[in-house]
Amino acid sequence: MRPETLYGLFAPITAIKGVGPRIATNLQRLVGERVVGLLWHLPTGLMHRRYVENARHVKIGDTITITLEVLEHRAPKTKVRRSTPYRVKCQDSQNNFVDLVFFHAYPEHLLNLLPIGKKVLVSGKLDEFNQMLQILHPDYVGDPKNLDQWQGPEPIYPLTKGITQKYLSKIINEALKRCPKLPEWIDQQQLTKNNWPSWQDAVIEAHHPQTESHLLPTSSLHKRLAYDELLANQLALLLIRRMHRGKPGRAFKAPGKLAEKLLPELPFEFTNAQKRALVEIHTDLESPNHMVRLLQGDVGSGKTVVAMLAMLHVVESGSQTALLAPTEILAQQHAATLTPWAEIAGVKLGLLTSKGKDRKQTLEDLANGEIDVIVGTHALIQEQVQFKDLGFAVIDEQHRFGVEQRLSLTAKGDKVDVLVMTATPIPRTLMLAAYGDLVTSRLDEKPAGRPEIITKAMPLSRMDDVVQRVQNAAQQGRKIYWVCPLVEESEVLDFAAAEDRFKSLDLLMPGHVGLVHGRMKSAEKDQAMLDFLAGKTQVLVATTVIEVGVHVPDATIMVIEHAERFGLSQLHQLRGRIGRGKEESTCLLLYAPNLTKTAQTRLKIMRETTDGFVIAEEDLRLRGGGDILGLRQSGLPEFALASYEFHTDLLAKAHHDAETFLQTDPLLTSARGKALKNLLYLFQKDQTVDYLQ
Ligand code: ADP
Ligand code: MG
Repeated sequence: MRPETLYGLFAPITAIKGVGPRIATNLQRLVGERVVGLLWHLPTGLMHRRYVENARHVKIGDTITITLEVLEHRAPKTKVRRSTPYRVKCQDSQNNFVDLVFFHAYPEHLLNLLPIGKKVLVSGKLDEFNQMLQILHPDYVGDPKNLDQWQGPEPIYPLTKGITQKYLSKIINEALKRCPKLPEWIDQQQLTKNNWPSWQDAVIEAHHPQTESHLLPTSSLHKRLAYDELLANQLALLLIRRMHRGKPGRAFKAPGKLAEKLLPELPFEFTNAQKRALVEIHTDLESPNHMVRLLQGDVGSGKTVVAMLAMLHVVESGSQTALLAPTEILAQQHAATLTPWAEIAGVKLGLLTSKGKDRKQTLEDLANGEIDVIVGTHALIQEQVQFKDLGFAVIDEQHRFGVEQRLSLTAKGDKVDVLVMTATPIPRTLMLAAYGDLVTSRLDEKPAGRPEIITKAMPLSRMDDVVQRVQNAAQQGRKIYWVCPLVEESEVLDFAAAEDRFKSLDLLMPGHVGLVHGRMKSAEKDQAMLDFLAGKTQVLVATTVIEVGVHVPDATIMVIEHAERFGLSQLHQLRGRIGRGKEESTCLLLYAPNLTKTAQTRLKIMRETTDGFVIAEEDLRLRGGGDILGLRQSGLPEFALASYEFHTDLLAKAHHDAETFLQTDPLLTSARGKALKNLLYLFQKDQTVDYLQ
């Protein structure tokens, strides 16, 4: 249970004065549902609000505070009230005229606020209109004795629709009042050495930057906060790992008869990387320890067959196995790949999704042990699913599943061993953040004889050419992915762009073009994918939703519009959809003119290599704010305060510190241990703390 000191922070944001249900919807997009999210929403800029006597001594566009005398009110004529503003003529102490300008004003209110002849304090941005100085919708109008509040540095926050700077600052200041003093979880020596403030001071100061340097991720304020977040992340991962490890596992012994049946029938030789991974996995399965291993390999590196052999090993020793896929369509594809292999090996395979037919029979067969290998979606996690004896679970594309979901699958058996498969090549330095020190097998070698993917970059101005080529290719019976970019901040534009492209291509090739985007129901998406797979459509226009490991081996062309808007890892993931068959494939990266240096480098790397691990390292090196889009897909956790660009050293340190601390206080019962529990709650790792109880 979350400690009482943190209640205030974990209240819904509507608990803050001034946050009604309507604005909360907008606010949530920015900071999430709870008050604590406001604390994590740090300013990215700083504005100096300056007190001046003479409005003519100010640069137009500066934000100032000034004392003005009210001269005259000029209300717009009622007829034109909407478009003409209400003007209040004023002058400063040096007799310069300054207008205060209000659209959609309530005259009564303004007459009250700005009585003629009175001196008022006004703060806002100074503009010029028809050579008149003016302040449009001042931030403040009121008593000159409030001057202190209306000068000096002010934080500038990233905003979203319907939220203004002034409002957000006010709300955040309210939230800061709820920021408690917490017992320190970092040891004193480390605080002194790094010149780190207490947590509470760090949060408050981060929201009240006095100089630009306080905004930097490398400032001691930000470092302290980033370290806290990373420490919570590493502690949680270690605790979860220990929860698995703590329980003894099972030793799955088998002489390998089933593999012997399958191997001669496979039309290829294993790569060395596959052989290595198989040895590692078999060793884990046979040992009496609990296994949680990561199988990391680029798309097409051959993870599926490795998983199958591991599952056969467990089946042979008498237990059931499950393969959990993130989507319906991937589950179906896995089942289609594995079924012939299962037949050769003589084991029974089932498919369980949320809507499949024969569901009842499948559930029965699982419960009575008829089925040896079950492939499925999250439907496998549901309560009514019972196994006779689940011994081993393979989880594909794991970052789409939360830790809880993984735990609920393994809870369906006794000491279930786990193999997590991911196609995301995560740089070594960042593996810690995503998986802690999870043991990893890497498939860093492509199977021999894979056709090349040729990647070309060209400007969007050559669109007509590209469309012509796509049309020709489709006529020759080839399959083409056409990827439209995400438009930042606007899901609506994003899918509108895809729909427009779909319409224009469909005009040229009526009936041969399909469309998938994130706004579609998953059944519609699946249908569009299946039509493409079956060849009913030959061009598939898509947003990034196709990224998940869909396998259409005869798709050989990919066009990516506005490739400059994608992160490297994301481009790589997308491109991984082609080059999966025997034919040579082509990827066309279309870019808008005036590429930034980083975008140029990204496109260059994409042309030069298809090695996912190289690309991941480069991605990390190049990653700037603009690439956050790619991050969401990368499988790395999204941190609120820590940054992969600036804080990787802190990540390693947090890992080391968490490990060292848990050795001396494994249940977090000492004073510092208790403080660390607060830290875990603060970053919503409640599940891991509950486990300690
Ligand atoms: P991943 O899941 O890692 O993206 P898959 O397991 O789907 O890759 O493998 C892609 C394709 O390569 C499949 O058709 C698979 O049968 C084949 N394959 C797997 N291993 C090899 C190998 N060593 N040599 C040639 N082809 C292979
Ligand atoms: Mg796969």
